[in-house]
Amino acid sequence: MGKNYRAELTGVFGDPVDGNPTGVMTEAAYEAMGQNFRYITMKVTKEDFPDAMRAVKALHMKGVNLTMPHKIAVLSWLDELSPAASIIGAVNTVVVREDGTLFGENTDGKGFIQALANAGEQIEGKTITILGAGGAARAIAVEAGLAGAKKITVINRTEAKAQELAELVRGNSKAEAAALAWEDGQKIPEDTDILINATPVGLAPDIGSKPAIDYDTIKAGMVVSDVVFNPAVTPFLTEAEARGAKTVSGLGMLACQGARNITLWTRQEAPLELMEKVLAQEFA
Ligand code: NDP
Repeated sequence: MGKNYRAELTGVFGDPVDGNPTGVMTEAAYEAMGQNFRYITMKVTKEDFPDAMRAVKALHMKGVNLTMPHKIAVLSWLDELSPAASIIGAVNTVVVREDGTLFGENTDGKGFIQALANAGEQIEGKTITILGAGGAARAIAVEAGLAGAKKITVINRTEAKAQELAELVRGNSKAEAAALAWEDGQKIPEDTDILINATPVGLAPDIGSKPAIDYDTIKAGMVVSDVVFNPAVTPFLTEAEARGAKTVSGLGMLACQGARNITLWTRQEAPLELMEKVLAQEFA
């Protein structure tokens, strides 16, 4: 066979997508791995999504990430779902298998749990409090339940969404689950081992903001983590650290879920430390 001028294609479909940093770390990883893969950040509107999914096959792509507003719409295009993605009801990573069939996974919650593990913290047997009940919270809560959390409490502005997520956890894992409506100066439950901000509060350019909770109810010894990755250290984490909590940045979660995607597509281990470094430089 002659020289191969064709690269393997991966990327992300979303709208808006211009500010999505995944491409920078993924391309850096492919290069370091010596993989002839590319990762393209693509604007795909809701209306054009069916054409884009047809293009995944037509262009012989290896896979694709989905971000807003496509994580649920993609379900009807998939041949198989991972057990967790099927419970979560949303997919952020599609793998095109050798036979052309499409497999859907949700790597957000798994990335979160891995980032925690890399910081020396396990989920099993822990009491977890999650602020927010959107897509990120859902992925984290479901995976935490599957990973053996003892109890998961969801606190959300819209109480009905917190209730729905608690029920989802209860119905699909052995974890106890509770839902609370977010009150002014919300207190963090005393038995919390791991507290997670799964709201977008604090995400750049809104970098001065922090979730409206009573920070004095964060105790030394709690593990406090954020899904917000830019900035890497949010005011939420700074306040928690000032109360003696151990903090874990959302940047680790982003890198860990990205590394999982790369492994799903290339079947090789991804250079996680390099990916974290590239992201940190990007957000500096
Ligand atoms: P969604 O829009 O699905 O959910 C947002 C959640 O935050 C809802 O529960 C919403 O409450 C709550 N919320 C929003 N604003 C406020 C506020 N001012 N005060 C209190 N609660 C608020 O978003 P996602 O779950 O998809 O994303 C959330 C964040 O997670 C984003 O910043 C995203 O970038 C980040 N993320 C990070 C990842 C990583 O790898 N680090 C991976 C995936 C996401 P309500 O229901 O009442 O509206």
